[in-house]
Amino acid sequence: MQALNTLLRTLAKLPGMGPRSAQRVALHVLAEPSRLTGLVQALADAATKLGTCPQCGNLAEKPEAEATALCPICANPARATGVICVVEGVADIWAMEKGGTFGGHYHVLGGVVSALQGVGPAQLRLGQLAGRLQSAHPPVTEVILALGASIEGQTTGHLVAEMVHRDAPKAIVTSLAKGMPVGANVDYLDESTLTLALQHRQPLA
Ligand SMILES: [Zn+2]
Repeated sequence: MQALNTLLRTLAKLPGMGPRSAQRVALHVLAEPSRLTGLVQALADAATKLGTCPQCGNLAEKPEAEATALCPICANPARATGVICVVEGVADIWAMEKGGTFGGHYHVLGGVVSALQGVGPAQLRLGQLAGRLQSAHPPVTEVILALGASIEGQTTGHLVAEMVHRDAPKAIVTSLAKGMPVGANVDYLDESTLTLALQHRQPLA
């Protein structure tokens, strides 16, 4: 059964899935044809209707045949434009937003520098951040590093801090408080830990 094998292999490659969970998902959707068509439709819609926010790198809607619009956070006039929280990925934005205490903007780097995984500064959205820092009106007053406590996260944080000192010299650079578990990713923290870490953020030494 070629179709089944292809489905199982494709599902098993997804993050967090292995052969056993792939089997469970496959049997679940195959048990009722409407589940399968619903899933296919949702995937196709996501592929065509979602893009990357040109400002922050968050997911954003892509109206047909038009450039991707600003994401809901960048487009929200109630949010403070002068405070930018730098995160590794979109999942980190979701984690921060669940806490509901942060009212500024984000910048998604798309990863952290990692010699092991061959990710250099050029692969990250650092140039876009420099552009934002240089052209922001009113100027950026604070850049919050929410990059996780790994060596890679810290190295990347220092790169961002250097950039802020160069491109927005009046802005302060803070980092989530060190209550964060060592090695933890931002998107794994529960809401209250993350809220506390944000409230007790520290100026970067
Ligand atoms: Zn955005």
